[in-house]
Amino acid sequence: MAGNPRNGRPYRRLVDWLRAQRLPCWLCGRDIGYDLDPRHPLSFTLDHLEPVSKRPDLLLAKENARAAHRRCNSSRGNRTTTQPKTAPQRASRRW
Ligand SMILES: [Zn+2]
Repeated sequence: MAGNPRNGRPYRRLVDWLRAQRLPCWLCGRDIGYDLDPRHPLSFTLDHLEPVSKRPDLLLAKENARAAHRRCNSSRGNRTTTQPKTAPQRASRRW
């Protein structure tokens, strides 16, 4: 399990740099609970403008880093996690 760049020092420094700015969530625009437990849905996470899966070279780029709620971050992208398909399919109702 070695070699995950997110565990490296430069990444931690990027997270600290972003957290120190106390920015609102770039996805929903609301304040982030910077003092909340990291597992809280409204706590701070570092999100990437360009997903790291597409642009791994931007993992540590400040211009690619955005502050986001844990909730918003995980609902936005990371489809690698298993999510039940609960969305109602209303799209094809026009005919
Ligand atoms: Zn948010």
